[in-house]
Amino acid sequence: MTAHELRAAELRELLNRYGHEYYVLDAPTVPDAEYDRLFRELQALEEAHPELAGADSPTKRVGGAPLAEFDSVTHAVAMLSLANAFSDMQLADPVERHAELIQFDERVRKGLDAAEVEYATEPKFDGLAISLLYENGVLIRAATRGDGVTGEQVTENVRTIRAIPLKLDGANPPALLEVRGEVLMLKRDFERLNAEQISRGDKAFANPRNAAAGSLRQLDSRITAQRRLSFFAYAIAQVEGTDWPATHQGEMDWLKQLGFPVVEASLRPVVKGVAGLSGYYEGVLARRAGLPFEIDGVVYKVNRRDQQDALGFVSRAPRWAIAHKFPAEEALTVVEAIEEQV
Ligand code: NAD
Repeated sequence: MTAHELRAAELRELLNRYGHEYYVLDAPTVPDAEYDRLFRELQALEEAHPELAGADSPTKRVGGAPLAEFDSVTHAVAMLSLANAFSDMQLADPVERHAELIQFDERVRKGLDAAEVEYATEPKFDGLAISLLYENGVLIRAATRGDGVTGEQVTENVRTIRAIPLKLDGANPPALLEVRGEVLMLKRDFERLNAEQISRGDKAFANPRNAAAGSLRQLDSRITAQRRLSFFAYAIAQVEGTDWPATHQGEMDWLKQLGFPVVEASLRPVVKGVAGLSGYYEGVLARRAGLPFEIDGVVYKVNRRDQQDALGFVSRAPRWAIAHKFPAEEALTVVEAIEEQV
């Protein structure tokens, strides 16, 4: 084996283990920043040596296998991940600082043969993805992302989340609507839950994301009902029986009218070009600590759906969107919290 093959095998093994702990067990043992670092190292190795990139590599897969205890759901439209971009905020030169963002915008403009592209922006909520299916305006099924193709059926648990409408607002609901969004725990609810856990002598959760995932993936929905979970919608996967808006921003406004919680308008402006994106990124970064929920970055999506369709997907993520991650702030506390639990 060459040194590259050895390192790639080592990285795949580590990432598979950490992924299982995070996605399946809801109990990570390393900070996200460490996972991201190893993931990018493997990605770079596979790019330089394509023969190393087997279809079973963590860089080609989404999430983790669904738990056998739940009924499984096959997603009609795959639930993908997002490609990541990072910015080194220590760099003074904005072009150097946002180099990966500039590359993303260049790829999009080239793919669309456009001089300038409109992007819908959003916070990247640090919770877990959920698919909600409505038939004639009534919630009939909720499922986790799982491995992107097959998720866990968690309808009873999701019905206990007050922010999620059981019935849509308005007189003429679509015959079928699949909404995607993030289930999360607000910072204040997370603190309250951990205080209760500790006073009962139970284990504290490492962070709100794990608390949300652990609370949603409960076999007893009475436990989910006691945990205060929140929800924000961020995508539409399917609509039947009606036309729907042709832009991402229009979709979000429509979901709001139908009764879904959508993040406040000042956190989801439509912007143009790298200057618009980096301005949004730095603005949200400055607001991060004051937000009621945890975010690990922001997400940009090409606003027009026809342009999204033209760009399409790669194996695990759309080409028309990217997660622009924030610098890790929680790395140390997460490790400490995890160590305290062991
Ligand atoms: P991701 O979290 O990088 O991006 C995709 C997800 O973002 C979606 O599934 C959705 O749940 C979420 N999301 C939040 N806001 C969104 C919005 N506005 N629009 C669309 N989606 C939005 O996806 P991933 O591939 O599941 O996770 C990888 C990340 O998970 C890593 O970057 C790492 O930080 C973390 N992770 C950590 C460990 C660990 O051991 N600590 C292990 C595995 C993964």
